[in-house]
Amino acid sequence: MIGSNLDGQARWKSALMDNYGTPGIALVRGEGSYVWDADGNRYLDLVGGIATNVLGHAHPAVVAAVSAQIATIAHTSNLYVNPVAVELAEALLGVAGLDGSAKVVFSNSGAEANEAAFKLARLTGRPKVIATHGAFHGRTMGSLTLTGQPPKREPFQPLVPGVEHIPFGDVAALRAAVDADTAAVILEPVLGEGGVVPAPDGYLQAAREITSTAGALLILDEVQTGIGRLGSWFAFQQAGITPDIFTLAKGLGGGLPLGACVAVGVAADLFAPGHHGTTFGGNAVCAAAGLAVLRTIAADGILEHVSALGKDIAAGIEELDHPLIAGVRGNGLLLGVALTAPISGAVATAAAAKGFLVNNVQADTVRLAPPLILTEEQAGEFVAALPGILDTAAANTPVEV
Ligand code: PMP
Repeated sequence: MIGSNLDGQARWKSALMDNYGTPGIALVRGEGSYVWDADGNRYLDLVGGIATNVLGHAHPAVVAAVSAQIATIAHTSNLYVNPVAVELAEALLGVAGLDGSAKVVFSNSGAEANEAAFKLARLTGRPKVIATHGAFHGRTMGSLTLTGQPPKREPFQPLVPGVEHIPFGDVAALRAAVDADTAAVILEPVLGEGGVVPAPDGYLQAAREITSTAGALLILDEVQTGIGRLGSWFAFQQAGITPDIFTLAKGLGGGLPLGACVAVGVAADLFAPGHHGTTFGGNAVCAAAGLAVLRTIAADGILEHVSALGKDIAAGIEELDHPLIAGVRGNGLLLGVALTAPISGAVATAAAAKGFLVNNVQADTVRLAPPLILTEEQAGEFVAALPGILDTAAANTPVEV
């Protein structure tokens, strides 16, 4: 039999491994910044596939590009040139403002993009890679080793040797850790899964200076911050630095599985044929989606919109002056609403009941990472609803606020 006898919650939990503690909202359709569940309820999607659906759902440019590509040629083999991937790589290097010495290797996910970066670091011949506490870099064994969140790592010991974690945002700790054995330092410009914690002012610039002086590579994991999320194509542009390697995924494919590891200068030439690869990485259909994403962001002035809207939302939430709100972290459309009590799960549940999808990224932080095309009106509806959502969450949770 192909099908199921189960209904509702029981069915959604039956055949898939429960890796995400999914609350059982089955989303069946999306358009723009809205999604609909299997019962026909509409939600404003402030999670955006977790920072992924930069152009929202079913964007006409992505639909057209993907449809045309799949009807032309979907996939060949890495033995032959994939012109769509070439075009996307050129476009990426163009928006990154990088010259001819930079190169791209595509993947299917952020974890894989970080695996590529990790492998490039190994090819320097130096043994040590430095990452930070609180960082999230993926769940494959290499990217999990780089991840600085013990509950995610510990069940899978022994992990990959040669990785050291230091406190995030601490320049002195970074300076003390980097030495002649250091191949690379990998940083998230904003800790995403760690709770939307931006690097302190000057940290990325100091990391650039420290790694350059030591002859180590600086890798920025821009899987969450890249492709316009912060109101610039990449976070490193806001910091005014160029990393040796940066990794992308999430927004890059506009909802299709696509990641990239971009390397600059000497790092761009470390891989030789046979060192690395993956069957589907940069697949023509996904690459066509990526091109549509980049072209639409550029043509529609989306970066400017993201900067302005992010400021409006943050200011609007701060102005609510609600006792459960401690403040707002982040910039652009990657915002963390810090709570004065660890009830983000109840907030996400109350929000969904009122038609808003938000993410309880940490117990005391609600993450907003909506489509970059979210309108002022839609954002305003959420901000206006937030006090009621918080009151409901507090009423449903036995905590003092
Ligand atoms: N790096 C960062 C910064 C991420 O936020 C994530 C995903 N949350 C990853 C890497 C892993 O990406 P993926 O899930 O596509 O493997």
